[in-house]
Amino acid sequence: MGAKVNSILEPVLSLLFPNRCAFCQDILDSSCCICDKCLIKIEFIHPPFCEKCGAPLFYRESMKVPCYQCQDLKFDFEKNESLGVYTESLKKLIHLYKFNRRRSLNRPFTILLIRYKKEYIKRHDFLIPVPLNSSRYSERGFNQSSLITDEISRHIEITCLEDCLKRTGASRPQSSIHSRDMRLKNLTDRFRVREKYKETIRGKNILVFDDVLTTGATSSACAKTLYNEGAGSVDILTLARAVKA
Ligand SMILES: [Zn+2]
Ligand SMILES: [Zn+2]
Repeated sequence: MGAKVNSILEPVLSLLFPNRCAFCQDILDSSCCICDKCLIKIEFIHPPFCEKCGAPLFYRESMKVPCYQCQDLKFDFEKNESLGVYTESLKKLIHLYKFNRRRSLNRPFTILLIRYKKEYIKRHDFLIPVPLNSSRYSERGFNQSSLITDEISRHIEITCLEDCLKRTGASRPQSSIHSRDMRLKNLTDRFRVREKYKETIRGKNILVFDDVLTTGATSSACAKTLYNEGAGSVDILTLARAVKA
């Protein structure tokens, strides 16, 4: 059904948004929506990457070097996979999307996620976006995470439970807090599973979507909440993995 609707909408969308790069607005020849110039600037994460935090791994004398990005971190989810490293270009794009309200960027992000993470996404029963708290929602006017999860579920057979998680209070923006302990404290009990989904998620494999994974505190808080309600497993999907130099 979703695919059918999409095949009808596709030509309409390409009329409304003629072949321009969604990131830099350059005119494109193909019907794809990202230009090569922008694409090559993104540092995509290809295997091998850390099975836990999704950071790229490297080989030294044909031995995989253990991940030093997450050795001091404790996560409450099973694993994270990210589209790319949170370096300049991806950082800029995510910033444009989140803070400059460039909603149209949800499409290229979705296309890239499907291109590189389709198999990973399909391994799960439900896709759940991290919710924004209400004050930040009204500030930005949209939850960028749920736009992307909704779009993904139109292309891949996975059900998006858009409003499954809710925030219970106005926690401070995580980016304003620098200590991990304080971040965790800030998040404790900040998420709830909506009553109507409690049965639905029991024993299921959940994939939580967020924009960036840094210390994993937000993702861990979501995972903990879902596990408390009986989720079978919780993995994370993010646009970018922020790594230490
Ligand atoms: Zn471009
Ligand atoms: Zn790691």
